[in-house]
Amino acid sequence: MKHTIWALRIIAGAVAMAWSLSAVAGALLCQAVFAPEVQFRPQDNGVTPKQVESFREVVNDVNSRLGKLQAPQNAEILIHSEHNAPFADQIQKSITMGIRYSRTINGKTYQKAPSLALAILAHEYGHLVFAENYLHREPLYAEGVSSLEKAKPFEKKFAELELQKTSLAAQMKTFKEAGKPTPPEIIQRHTAVSTMMARVRDQIQDIKADYRKVTAIKEPYDEFFADVVAVLYSGKADAISKSIVFTRGLQASRLKGQATQTLEQRDFENRRHQNLDTRPHNFFSATRSAIWNSYLASPSLRNKHSGEILEAVMDAITKEISFKLKNPDVSFQKNWELLNSRLIEAIDQQMASRGIAKIK
Ligand SMILES: [Zn+2]
Repeated sequence: MKHTIWALRIIAGAVAMAWSLSAVAGALLCQAVFAPEVQFRPQDNGVTPKQVESFREVVNDVNSRLGKLQAPQNAEILIHSEHNAPFADQIQKSITMGIRYSRTINGKTYQKAPSLALAILAHEYGHLVFAENYLHREPLYAEGVSSLEKAKPFEKKFAELELQKTSLAAQMKTFKEAGKPTPPEIIQRHTAVSTMMARVRDQIQDIKADYRKVTAIKEPYDEFFADVVAVLYSGKADAISKSIVFTRGLQASRLKGQATQTLEQRDFENRRHQNLDTRPHNFFSATRSAIWNSYLASPSLRNKHSGEILEAVMDAITKEISFKLKNPDVSFQKNWELLNSRLIEAIDQQMASRGIAKIK
């Protein structure tokens, strides 16, 4: 899913509040076994309690498949009646999405059936599972995440300076429009504030450098993991591509000669387009196909060994991101084949070490 920030957080009056409270009560009831402290929060009146319940079932199902992996702690799910850019915030541990996935194509809005959003939720929740467990596996990521906290005072300082600069620029404009010379002290302050802003921006970048380094590398692996979660939940190889494809959008993008393969690449049974596409959501199309053919196509493996499968994928990914961190020259752009075959091999090794044999 897109990770675009598009969070319109409207708590819609008493009805939503009541649902929200009943969601809290429900979460407490099943706290001992499933979904520890997950909060389900409807964001508008169009979301029914039954729909919230269907979301809770997805989270419970995924949590029951985690094996030794940890379930996200204190996650919250913000549910809109429709949304065009569902996303998971791994730091806030929140998911923002709709009961219906919608898209506006050539000025007309199309919506997917609510049943198709469930695989999207499994995918987004997969991102939270990934972050929760990766944090304990990669010290650089853990340090990176704690650096975000350290950066906050600097970000606050930067925002204050930005306000000062805007105000000084407005004053300068007023003088100019009145045909009067701008007092030199205003110009000097404007220059000084600009210099300070550049310095603070550099400090923020330094503090977040490790976090940025890891997140840039982990993204395609993270998307792959989230898609595996969606496939285990739904039992369908095309769970995600089917949930987000709009035939019209696909046709339009094909006509423009762009994004021709984007949705096929996320179909684990895709036979046509396992080829070079370095965008993070699509990068591991060959690995998707391999893991399906070797393991996930078997319903009994999917259902009886989903915990081991997810642990194996998590361990393989941790190893591969670590390889990428140590070898910055092995770029995604130039090594599509190498990085796919390495991940396939790492998954095979992790599966074998758990006694899971290939089905073919
Ligand atoms: Zn995603």
